[in-house]
Amino acid sequence: MANLEPRSQVHGTWQAADDFRASALHYADQPALSAGGKTLSYAALNARVQTIAAAIADTETAQTQPVTAIYASRGADIYAAVLGALMRGHAYVPLNPKFPPERNRYILERSGASAVLYEAQDAAAVEDILAVPADGPLPQQIDLSALPQERTPPARIHDNPYAYVLFTSGSTGQPKGVAIRHSNLGAYLDATFQVADYGPVDRLSQNFDLTFDLSAHDMFVCWRAGAHLIVPSAADLEAPADYVRRQGITCWFSVPSLGQKMRQQGALTPGALDQLRLSLFCGEALPVDLAQDWARATGHRVENWYGPTEATIACTRYVLPADPDKIRGRFNLVPIGTPLPGMETLVLKEDGTPASVGESGELLVTGPQVADGYVADAEKTAAAFVRPAGKDRVHYRTGDRVDVGADGTLQFIDRIDNQIKIRGYRVELGEIESLLRATAVGCNAVVVPMPLKSPTPTSLVGVVEGWDGPGHQIRTAIKGHLPDYMTPTRVLVMPQFPKNASGKVDRGAIGQRVLKRLEKQNQQSAPKQKMKRYDRLIQFAQEINPALSRKELEQAENLMDGGLDSMGFVDFTVRLEKHFGLELTQETATELSQMSLWQMVAFLRRALAPKGADRFQPPAPGSLKAPELKRNLHYRAMRALDMLDKFPGFVADTPKPLVLCVGSSGFMRGI
Ligand code: AMP
Repeated sequence: MANLEPRSQVHGTWQAADDFRASALHYADQPALSAGGKTLSYAALNARVQTIAAAIADTETAQTQPVTAIYASRGADIYAAVLGALMRGHAYVPLNPKFPPERNRYILERSGASAVLYEAQDAAAVEDILAVPADGPLPQQIDLSALPQERTPPARIHDNPYAYVLFTSGSTGQPKGVAIRHSNLGAYLDATFQVADYGPVDRLSQNFDLTFDLSAHDMFVCWRAGAHLIVPSAADLEAPADYVRRQGITCWFSVPSLGQKMRQQGALTPGALDQLRLSLFCGEALPVDLAQDWARATGHRVENWYGPTEATIACTRYVLPADPDKIRGRFNLVPIGTPLPGMETLVLKEDGTPASVGESGELLVTGPQVADGYVADAEKTAAAFVRPAGKDRVHYRTGDRVDVGADGTLQFIDRIDNQIKIRGYRVELGEIESLLRATAVGCNAVVVPMPLKSPTPTSLVGVVEGWDGPGHQIRTAIKGHLPDYMTPTRVLVMPQFPKNASGKVDRGAIGQRVLKRLEKQNQQSAPKQKMKRYDRLIQFAQEINPALSRKELEQAENLMDGGLDSMGFVDFTVRLEKHFGLELTQETATELSQMSLWQMVAFLRRALAPKGADRFQPPAPGSLKAPELKRNLHYRAMRALDMLDKFPGFVADTPKPLVLCVGSSGFMRGI
């Protein structure tokens, strides 16, 4: 690993692939993994792992840096690749398909990966990453789909003490790498198995991207237990309750945002998920009301786990009372509890002294799960991995403000810095601000999470000081340079930022001004008289995310392009259901997600037409002008028209055009 100073040389002999190796012997015929439509037994997965390890071996020399990058789509081979890399004594570093190529290239470069593994359908995306100019040598490329059926690797020649390297958002403009030792992961798994009874009959969810360290819990807990890891498809993640029931999931692990989405979908009715015998939430604050609904839906154990990537997955946990009515927490947030076995916590007040019961301060954690530091970044490592006065061991400063309860239970309050979580994704506002500054050269920039002061913000507004053009110009320029969840929905311009008493930029005051401005703009754009359906739709979208601009919503091909995220979209469909009495099915929701506002209005008109009335009256020939005609059509018909537009000569020159159409039933209906 490039320039990572190992702090401790002490690491046991356990390595991350060892549990899988043992389970492959014990549970050979039992299912180990379902992903991308395939289910593999432990024996079958092991055979694939060996083949992949052999392919990595082909690319190795004694000088090879034992780090393997994996383009982490959700196919079975990707999980086999994680184990294949580990079997070869490599650390794995996941690349996220949702990241722009530049970001993935940076991660490749910074981690020093010697090879990149991918499935055939991602070859072009990997080419795009490798085409980004960078200093280091190009890693070897291994197309997993092209590997032969079965091979056995030669004896391994490398032994990386690190199991994986993950990159989290970095406040100064680039992601920072955290390398986790086998010993860190081993300590986490030991602790987890002391407090949770995962076993070979369990069927575990795998809701996280592999770039999120909570995915390591899913994989390594599962394979230690000899259980079955069931990876949801992208469609499953849109309807998670169906996935739970269809796949018979018994152990759930997700960020609360996914639970929130299920709640919005109406999936958390009492007893609806009673097959989930154990549910863990982690990664962001867990609201009490969500925890209560979840507990009623499952009727089984629910826990709130907490931890930063730097301390390996999770380091405290809180078991919720069995009676949902007894679930309590301050600020409507469930406590984060007490340390996992082997870990210790310390809460320091601003003056550096320990907080007593009833006081709050920054949470520091120490123990065998704490990483060495950041890859090739001694400065950031020194700032975050510290030895507090009177303590022998290095502690990681989490940046989280917590309260100490009477029984030592910790309660999360907020962050002491500008790091936030959006749908569970960790985001340093500084990273976005740095890109805004680099784009609006010479201007200062601040990013405001919305809703203001929420522990679970859902959108971002960029504010640029003194830019002499419109904000959307900057937004257009930065689009595609950040993952979607980090891209501000709106960029506003302010002539001058408000300052506080000590002359510093006052983020709180900027947030208030942003809020006022958005409210004013949204009020101005709201129609005065009785609201038409079209305006109602815009109102719903702006209620969900006040940062959405009416103009962008109107121009967008669908609401997601207009800036609504997938969670917001679920909320939107629920409002349609409630307000218009629309019968919402999974299919309708998917159709709506592809429609522009006008198409939705037309869709609603048809869907809400009184029973027996003709669902769609084609306009009399010549009675409508082209734009009106388009607005009145089923959105699939619009696609058909667009297609016909591509053959103007044909359509215009043929007296009775006869078109041979091949398409889905919906498309044909549209025609
Ligand atoms: P990550 O490194 O992506 O796992 O993010 C770690 C950060 O997520 C922590 O420092 C907290 O700010 C936040 N976090 C994780 N779990 C919880 C939780 N249960 N409650 C509140 N915040 C959490």
